[in-house]
Amino acid sequence: MNSHHKVFIIGSGPAGLTAAIYSARANLSPVVFEGLQPGGQLTITTEVENFPGFENGIQGPELMEIMRKQAIRVGADCQFKEVTAVDFSKRPFTIKSYDEEYTADSVIISTGASAQLLGLESESKYMGNGVSACATCDGFFFKNLRVLVVGGGDTALEEANYLTRHASEVIIIHRRNEFRGSKIMVDRVKKNPKIKFMLSKVVKEVLGKEESGRKTMTGVLLQDTVTGAVEQLDADGLFIAIGHKPNTAIFKGVLDMDEKGYLVTKPGSSYTNVEGVFAAGDVADKTYRQAITAAGSGCMAAIDAERWLEAQE
Ligand SMILES: Cc1cc2nc3c(=O)[nH]c(=O)nc-3n(C[C@H](O)[C@H](O)[C@H](O)COP(=O)(O)OP(=O)(O)OC[C@H]3O[C@@H](n4cnc5c(N)ncnc54)[C@H](O)[C@@H]3O)c2cc1C
Repeated sequence: MNSHHKVFIIGSGPAGLTAAIYSARANLSPVVFEGLQPGGQLTITTEVENFPGFENGIQGPELMEIMRKQAIRVGADCQFKEVTAVDFSKRPFTIKSYDEEYTADSVIISTGASAQLLGLESESKYMGNGVSACATCDGFFFKNLRVLVVGGGDTALEEANYLTRHASEVIIIHRRNEFRGSKIMVDRVKKNPKIKFMLSKVVKEVLGKEESGRKTMTGVLLQDTVTGAVEQLDADGLFIAIGHKPNTAIFKGVLDMDEKGYLVTKPGSSYTNVEGVFAAGDVADKTYRQAITAAGSGCMAAIDAERWLEAQE
């Protein structure tokens, strides 16, 4: 494999693959290092109904497979490799994957952000089949149903509020007996007649059934954090809202980040603080976190990189 590239893309979610499609079509022969989750976060969900162009929705893994094939067809080189270290202190930039070393004129970072999960085996089993980490994405599937939201910060409270547009009942489960979220959000959820609370409780297990090969979540086992008592709670959905972690560990001390580790880009662009290094998708977005916004910013990064490279020549 060629070890020098004009455009080096780290990550193969909607942001990275869109950047790859644009850079390839600009004749920049991009390479994409796909990381440990080729296709990104959408590969752990089922139905995606809000990505434009698919009238009847599409399965997340299938959408990402199509994007990958499209990127390869127009000339991107997608490699099942992980980036383990970078050196952006001089140009060309150096990118390492374990003991292999590559150089690049420009780099697009699209390593995403991982939703923090509870870490239960049963949670992964029903992910996309009742369990979700994104209310905006999946709330629509829970019309007139009972859903649970786990978490106690602003995100959990906002997601609970949002879910009352669809669900008949939303129960917030939180391990403490008070919320971390802002007073204004706490007041808002307390006033919402569709929202109930189960405090000092943790989810011990996700329960479900499997019929004709189709898995469906049916409820949870909750444990009281004070008494230790365990109870069963029936529900149709479980939204995990305990935070997101941007995948930026390898860029610490190299690129500007906010206090949560999200990469900082110059407003209205994908430029990071290092010239020639661009960021796209959830890795630099703690607000929208959608496939279409990630794809849109991947397009921005490719165009920014292309124009920046041209200006260097
Ligand atoms: C359960 C769930 C359901 C969702 N449903 C929807 C939905 O219906 N609609 C919607 O619009 N959005 C949905 N989302 C959100 C959507 O998936 C994200 O907004 C989107 O995937 C972000 O794209 P991205 O390209 O920025 O990053 P990601 O999709 O997170 O991809 C990151 C990529 O970076 C790679 N990577 C990370 N570290 C490295 C490294 N060191 N070296 C190389 N590669 C690396 C990973 O392997 C991965 O390929 C959902 C998210 C979840 C978790």
